[in-house]
Amino acid sequence: MIRRDYSEIFEFAKNNSAFYSKKFNDIELDAVNSTDDIPITYRDEIVDNEIEVIPIKYIINSSQYKIVSERTSGSTGKFIEINWDYRDYLLSMSQLVYYRHKYYKIRPNDKRCQFYTWIDGVDGKEIVMLSKNCMAFPKAYLSNDDLKTYFEQMQTFQPVWMILQPSIAYLLAKFVIDNRIKIPASIKYIELTGEMYSKSTRLLVEEVFKCHVANQYGTYEFNSIAYECPFGNMHILDKNVIVEVVDDSENNVADGNEGKIVVTTKINKVMPFVRYCVGDSGKIEKNKGCKCGNCSEILKVTIGRSDDKVHLSSEDNVSFYDFISSMQRTDSMDAISVLQFRISQIAIDEFEVDAVIKGNKTNFETIFINNITNPELKKAKYRFRYYDSLLPDEAGKIKIFKSLVEVRK
Ligand SMILES: [Zn+2]
Repeated sequence: MIRRDYSEIFEFAKNNSAFYSKKFNDIELDAVNSTDDIPITYRDEIVDNEIEVIPIKYIINSSQYKIVSERTSGSTGKFIEINWDYRDYLLSMSQLVYYRHKYYKIRPNDKRCQFYTWIDGVDGKEIVMLSKNCMAFPKAYLSNDDLKTYFEQMQTFQPVWMILQPSIAYLLAKFVIDNRIKIPASIKYIELTGEMYSKSTRLLVEEVFKCHVANQYGTYEFNSIAYECPFGNMHILDKNVIVEVVDDSENNVADGNEGKIVVTTKINKVMPFVRYCVGDSGKIEKNKGCKCGNCSEILKVTIGRSDDKVHLSSEDNVSFYDFISSMQRTDSMDAISVLQFRISQIAIDEFEVDAVIKGNKTNFETIFINNITNPELKKAKYRFRYYDSLLPDEAGKIKIFKSLVEVRK
């Protein structure tokens, strides 16, 4: 038996979206034992094909609906335009809004600042008021002069909170320290989203801004998927989404095991994604009575979005999780803080590591390589380059791992 909230969106998608009518044509829910029998939707099926996903009523009666659209950040090169009925959009955020207030006392109308990559009709250089309570700065302009202007604007605006991707939060924190900037006293909360980050980055942001910091995991396709409570657990926002973790054969893994994160919307009727592979890996853990009182399950994202694999000469291609976990362990060992990093594979046994660290560089290099578990990766050549900060790429993100090696079939 498939749970009811799942079967409702499945039937809706199958009966209303041309894409899903075709995809689910042979599937009758009555005959299905588990969601594993429902095929997964991949991003590539949707790129250049977005319109097929949208139920016809939203296209022919578009004037009856207030449709809002956003673009996925395109970290894999191509973006998807995601459409929502505005009421669904607000509804999909309501559980997050509830917990933001419950945990951190942030109300929906509290003034906030954020950064943007793309806004329809905006050239990407300006500071934009998205509403009277929301000031947005362009992510493409992050020079010291730009940051100085943004802090001046913030002083006048007096935001209560900010939504930031960790690389931007790091940049702001560093700018504050280097230039002895006075932080607006109004700021009492920062939400980090959109990238993975190290413990040291988070500590730095907490120290500099002296406020609550919480992690929020989401995608444009679904809005928020999981949100961190004050006890450090990322609770799944189960009124908005159904989350599954599957193995390479697209079957659910046992609780606590790692796999690909697959999400089904409960809210977005304009683009009713069912079992959609968001491109991240992670695991779901049973909630054993979190002290915050939220009973929903806990999601741990282990590898952020990237389709790139590490290519080895002796075995199959492997994921870059070994690098992430090595960096996580190196961070805080031997007085080293790993604040940002990015790794490129330039040959089968050669890697470039761009890093922002505090501490002894030679020790960092030795410990990082020591912490790698795969013997072939441990033996590879690493060239380290050090920076004050790493900036997001043109897609607006820091890609943790990139392979420049030709992909073997
Ligand atoms: Zn909790």
